[in-house]
Amino acid sequence: MARRKQSRGQCRYCGREMAKGGLIKHLSSCSQRQTVMTKANQKPGANQPLYHLRVQDAWGGAFWLDLEMNGSATLKDLDSYLRAIWLECCGHMSRFSIGGWRGDEFPMQTQDGQIFKPEVELTHIYDFGTSSETLIKVVGVREGQPTTAHPLALMARNAPPDVRCMECEQPASWLCMECQYEEDRPGMLCEQHVKKHPHENYGEPVPVVNSPRVGMCGYAGPAEPPY
Ligand SMILES: [Zn+2]
Ligand SMILES: [Zn+2]
Ligand SMILES: [Zn+2]
Ligand SMILES: [Zn+2]
Repeated sequence: MARRKQSRGQCRYCGREMAKGGLIKHLSSCSQRQTVMTKANQKPGANQPLYHLRVQDAWGGAFWLDLEMNGSATLKDLDSYLRAIWLECCGHMSRFSIGGWRGDEFPMQTQDGQIFKPEVELTHIYDFGTSSETLIKVVGVREGQPTTAHPLALMARNAPPDVRCMECEQPASWLCMECQYEEDRPGMLCEQHVKKHPHENYGEPVPVVNSPRVGMCGYAGPAEPPY
């Protein structure tokens, strides 16, 4: 198996790509983001706390997001965003807590300003059967005006992981779940090899998209940011 490289991602303000570990620091000094923030702060209106969240898949470091969330937004807003960009397959239930399954659940109407403190880590669980778990950490807070009219702003996101076809090592864009579940093979397939792939007990192979839910409950994307 190939050695694991540190996941990379792109700053949505200036377009620079860098390692996951450097992006949080970059966002605090990115001059293009600075310009956007200064412009937002010149608008009339009251300041509010704005939280920098590092969101990541609980099972590995390959899928992550940097979000800025308004202090007046609610957990419901965050839930909707995570569903849209990563999770939604068939309208499963979800919950937020501190401390995973054992932690008390927070109501969806909770304003994030009520629970977010530096270093607090929330767990979001989507689908209580084939569950997707997401960790949400507050890595910074500033006072100011939101940079968009939405409750959240996407500041950075991981680049799609480099997945390769198990037959020929070319870039893969499909996943066969039967291979994964019953044959203990990776199940990744390129456009060529997916055509003659024999398995169908778990349905057709699903598209490989930029989401930690690929391979779960037939998730098929699109894994695009809603805004
Ligand atoms: Zn930047
Ligand atoms: Zn589902
Ligand atoms: Zn192939
Ligand atoms: Zn297969």
